[in-house]
Amino acid sequence: MKKVGILGGGQLGRMLLQAAINYPVETHLMENDPLAPAAHLCHHFCSGDIRSFDDVYAFGKELDALTIEIESVNIEALEKLEAEGVKIYPKPAALKIIKNKIAQKEFYAVHEIPSSAFVVTKNKAELEAQSHFLPAVHKLAMGGYDGKGVQVIGTAAEIEFGFDAPAVLEKKVIIHKEIAIIIAVSDDGSTAIYPPVDMVFDPHLNLLSHQLCPAELPEKVFWKVEAIALNLVRKLNSAGIFAIELFADADGQVLVNEVAPRVHNSGHHSIEANYCSQFDMLWRIILGYPLGNTTPILPAALVNLVGSAGFTGPVKYEGLEEVLSMDNVFVHLYGKSDTKPGRKMGHVTILSKEKQDLLHKVNKIKHLLFAKA
Ligand code: ADP
Repeated sequence: MKKVGILGGGQLGRMLLQAAINYPVETHLMENDPLAPAAHLCHHFCSGDIRSFDDVYAFGKELDALTIEIESVNIEALEKLEAEGVKIYPKPAALKIIKNKIAQKEFYAVHEIPSSAFVVTKNKAELEAQSHFLPAVHKLAMGGYDGKGVQVIGTAAEIEFGFDAPAVLEKKVIIHKEIAIIIAVSDDGSTAIYPPVDMVFDPHLNLLSHQLCPAELPEKVFWKVEAIALNLVRKLNSAGIFAIELFADADGQVLVNEVAPRVHNSGHHSIEANYCSQFDMLWRIILGYPLGNTTPILPAALVNLVGSAGFTGPVKYEGLEEVLSMDNVFVHLYGKSDTKPGRKMGHVTILSKEKQDLLHKVNKIKHLLFAKA
């Protein structure tokens, strides 16, 4: 039986382990919090720091393959493990490009992958010299996630809110739609594409509010999204699951925002909405089985359950009974003991043939279900 390790023990690791149960695989997980959402679901839990060379190397050297649920892992250890024959999904070379937003933007430029124009700013002084480039969006090169490390700079007066660290300054796009698309790539280079998703953002939290799948796109835009995303993953030259986030503007122009080389929030609905979920798919890739069927069973919507504003502490869920009484609604709680404002505590997937029904239920769930303390 193959021994496969996961670096990180959050909700992505948790859902990955739920899918692992169906396969002949011995699961190992490294994480420094023994109470993390995925910690008790693996065969072997290893306490360690995913950013430490020594911890990642010691963890990986007894394994056949490794995958990640977050980008902030020690890449040097992964490179050494890869050189010694451990399979890494995604490849460290691809992860290295993606982990640093400067490298990611330069990769798009070199490969002529459409993405907003940008300049690199190493510190605040370099940012201050770019007032002619505004309005723009300033993004930390390393360490940003879920909108943290991203700052819109509309005017010269707002430059003070920018980062005093290596970053990219991207031209602000007038976004008509944010779209995500997940592509699976196997070791032999074959690919399977999930239907694109409309991502609707909450302007206050700067977090995903809900998503709809399949995205409603004019055919021309749909083909552009698929072609750009497929080209991008081919150029990354790595097996794994890739979630590509894109912007479509009002003229139907499509630009890549960013890519995540792993299972992703924008694919959680695939657990119920597609014949093969993104989590099942990653096991097929890692274990060398044929790719699964990405066809949707029904259209879907997804609502993230995030910690309510003003509540920090041991979580209490409000509205679970009502939501669980709704038809074709699936609740996933991530098993986090404590809530805090904006923390991802779970998600709810809704299936329906009718878009009106999906939107109605999205609304209802957002007014019913809360994670409070
Ligand atoms: P993170 O990796 O933290 O999720 P993103 O790069 O996805 O950060 O940016 C977060 C959000 O900021 C995006 O979903 C989008 O709404 C907005 N955004 C990012 N880049 C741009 C841009 N160039 N123009 C306009 N809005 C942007």
